[in-house]
Amino acid sequence: MLAEIKGLNEECGVFAIWGHEKAAEMTYYGLHALQHRGQEGAGIVTTDGEKLNLHKGVGLVNDVFSEAEFSRLKGHAAIGHVRYATQGGGGYENVQPLVFRSQKNSMALAHNGNLVNAHALKGQLEAQGSIFQTTSDTEVIAHLVKRSGHLPIEQAISSALSMIKGAYAFAVLTEDQLFIGLDPRGLRPLSIGRLGDAYVFASETCAFDLIGATYEREVRPGELIAIDEDGLRTSQFTSPLQRTLCSMEYVYFSRPDSDLNELNVHASRKTMGKQLAEEAPVIADVVTGVPDSSISAAIGFSEETGIPYELGLIKNRYVGRTFIQPSQELREQGVKMKLSAVRGIVEGKRVVMVDDSIVRGTTSRRIVRLLKEAGATEVHVRIASPPIQNPCYYGIDTSTKGELIASSNTVEEIREIIGADSLAFLSTEGLEKSIVADRDVNDHGVCQACFTGNYPTEIYPDTVIPAYKD
Ligand code: SF4
Repeated sequence: MLAEIKGLNEECGVFAIWGHEKAAEMTYYGLHALQHRGQEGAGIVTTDGEKLNLHKGVGLVNDVFSEAEFSRLKGHAAIGHVRYATQGGGGYENVQPLVFRSQKNSMALAHNGNLVNAHALKGQLEAQGSIFQTTSDTEVIAHLVKRSGHLPIEQAISSALSMIKGAYAFAVLTEDQLFIGLDPRGLRPLSIGRLGDAYVFASETCAFDLIGATYEREVRPGELIAIDEDGLRTSQFTSPLQRTLCSMEYVYFSRPDSDLNELNVHASRKTMGKQLAEEAPVIADVVTGVPDSSISAAIGFSEETGIPYELGLIKNRYVGRTFIQPSQELREQGVKMKLSAVRGIVEGKRVVMVDDSIVRGTTSRRIVRLLKEAGATEVHVRIASPPIQNPCYYGIDTSTKGELIASSNTVEEIREIIGADSLAFLSTEGLEKSIVADRDVNDHGVCQACFTGNYPTEIYPDTVIPAYKD
């Protein structure tokens, strides 16, 4: 589905590189590949061994960087970030990486995720005299590191990480070291690759493919990696817990050409579609997927049922982004602008419309109507994930509970609201089977908390659900 009309948004993407003479350029290309994870801001920090060089701005990677910036972004190492506007809105000061300068040394920090105890930690730090310049969780991590400034930085980072809880994949760059870390449950994705002698890190492996890097392995839950002129060292800042990688990364967020935890995203979506067909078959003439993220699941559904797959819905690619339109009514018109039903394919046909998820239901209702207006005689909606009934505390905008249509309506009620002839969702067991399959659940388990309400970490009464702009 289209993120900006659906109301589901990834928070960020992280990229880092060490040991490459064109570190800034490689990061720029890496961020291009991660652009789908955040379109509100982008930034790169490099080190030339003596000082950190920063360029960041509000907008798409292409808008923020021009050729002129790269003569200033010198150095053999870099970290980069693309951001979706969360708490505090999309102002320049919240665009990452954030740079903290001090007399002794400087530090740049970029992170993807959400800390469930950020509010409490911020209160403690403020009580001890810290002053915050941004509303980002990233600054909380930086203050915790700086508070242990008497320790070597590796230990200071380790000590900061032992205090924070939630989901995070982060990169810290100093003048002469790069640090990479992942939360104890590996909720957010982060992979390691090699580009010649250089080390690269990215939220998704599609960034490796774009720059010609080869995949090495996943960053392990609770792992802290340090790289400097002596090479790469790895340690555990905490014992790894059972991995609970966000299942929505497979369902919707990640690019189909990425591999997450050694499973290709397109392949996992196809399996979800097949599983869905097994669980909720239907008699129909044609299967269509809602572009772009539902197409793989629709192909899987088609393969399993033998009902031909067709391009019944087309995305109008060059229409302006709908999130700038303020009202619900205009957003719904935006849906119409962004998607077209192909009359020649659906007219007079019983159509299976496969979508990856339903958030508020308004988009599904609109698409069902589009298909019927184009002549579909029946529209059977099949959703390749379970009903989203709970908010996410880990950095994904799934809207508040009250806005989630499945939190207060049965499947039959949702069917009626969206005007479909039938509606079925993939089961939580089916989703887990599609991703974990016969692999070890300790290494390949997934979070399904927005479907089940079983959060893999503590959630505190004052845990802040990121307040996304909408
Ligand atoms: S609650 Fe849902 S969106 Fe959030 S990390 Fe878990 S699976 Fe992903």
